[in-house]
Amino acid sequence: MKFKFSANDREWHQTLLNAFENILKMKIQPVLVYDRKHFSNYVYKNNIKPNEVWAECIKECGTIWLNPHLASEPKVETVNTLYHECLHIKYPEKSELEIRRLADKTIPIAKSLTTKKTKFDIIHRH
Ligand SMILES: [Zn+2]
Repeated sequence: MKFKFSANDREWHQTLLNAFENILKMKIQPVLVYDRKHFSNYVYKNNIKPNEVWAECIKECGTIWLNPHLASEPKVETVNTLYHECLHIKYPEKSELEIRRLADKTIPIAKSLTTKKTKFDIIHRH
C-alpha cells in the first residue's frame, strides 16, 4: 500500500490529539481510528466517497478517521486536519466555514491542500 501512516506517525497523531483535547477542554474525548469500518453504518451524502476527503468524523462519539494520503503531505496538513476535526466535535453547531476559519487561524496551511480535494471532510451525526 502506497499511502500508510507509520507507527511513528500514529504516535505523534495521538500526542497531538491529547494536547488538543486539553487545550479545547473537550467534553467528548476524540478517538482516532485508521480503519474505515467504524463508519460502515453511515450513508454518504451526495455520493461523496471517503477517499475524496481528508477526514471523517462522528460528532457525538468523537470518532475521527484520517485519510492515509495525508501521510504523503506536509505534516502541517495533518495537524490542521486533526485540529479541524476536534473543533467539529467541540462545536457541533458551527458550520464548515466557521470551523475551517478557526482551524486555519490557529494552524495556517498553504492553499494547496484544500484545492486537492473538492470537499474537506465528512461529518456524521447519529
Ligand atoms: Zn470540516
